[in-house]
Amino acid sequence: MTARTPLIAGNWKMHKTGDEAGDTAADLARRIAGVTGREVMIAPPFTALAAVKIAIAGSIIGLGGQNLHWESSGAFTGEISGPMLTAAGCTHVIIGHSERRQFFGETDETVNKKIQAARAANLVPVMCIGETEAQREAEQTFSVLDKQIRNGLQGFALQDISDLVLAYEPVWAIGTGKTASREQAQEAHAFIRSVVEKLFGGPAAAAMRILYGGSVKPSNIADLMAMDDIDGALVGGASLEAATFADIVTY
Ligand code: PEP
Repeated sequence: MTARTPLIAGNWKMHKTGDEAGDTAADLARRIAGVTGREVMIAPPFTALAAVKIAIAGSIIGLGGQNLHWESSGAFTGEISGPMLTAAGCTHVIIGHSERRQFFGETDETVNKKIQAARAANLVPVMCIGETEAQREAEQTFSVLDKQIRNGLQGFALQDISDLVLAYEPVWAIGTGKTASREQAQEAHAFIRSVVEKLFGGPAAAAMRILYGGSVKPSNIADLMAMDDIDGALVGGASLEAATFADIVTY
């Protein structure tokens, strides 16, 4: 048995207005009231942070940003900084999601800078890594994960990663309905933990939460969570409806 508290996180991507997000968050808070033994976080669009903050007040749900800029302020039109997220009530921030890497030019280097910025703003970074289908087919999964972890966490000391959360999200499983089998996910998670151990030592690796993401649903969450190295989930599509996400949270 591990002592890692499961974290179930919802990534709402570019869905929901402020009103819609507030309603869904309030519904979710009602449905999971009294749940213990796990942490829950939702990351709505920036424009819905204020409404969701109000809706989740007094619940176990934490608030996350979906991205941040590495500078704390400046002439960066369209960007949001760590201190802005903290002031908006965020406790977490998703960094390096595959959609950001694929469509917005994020690299391991920008991920590294954003993790530093998140730490400076007292936000828990949820750092996303994962291989594409072509990389998996070319048997590059482990080398891709190794590089993403090493580069993303380059220059960090033990204390810098003490609350960091990793999210293994195979790109081929995101929004496709294809979930990695629990054995495939466990194999990747165990590998990821071994890389963290090489970089930061056994106790840090044993304490680090590694979430699985990629078409998680109420029907597969329990199977995934039964695996030794899977410590939670980052959920996209299935987090958008309160009833469905509540079923995942209470797997
Ligand atoms: C995600 O956006 O991080 C994700 C895993 O999406 P989905 O659950 O829809 O595959």
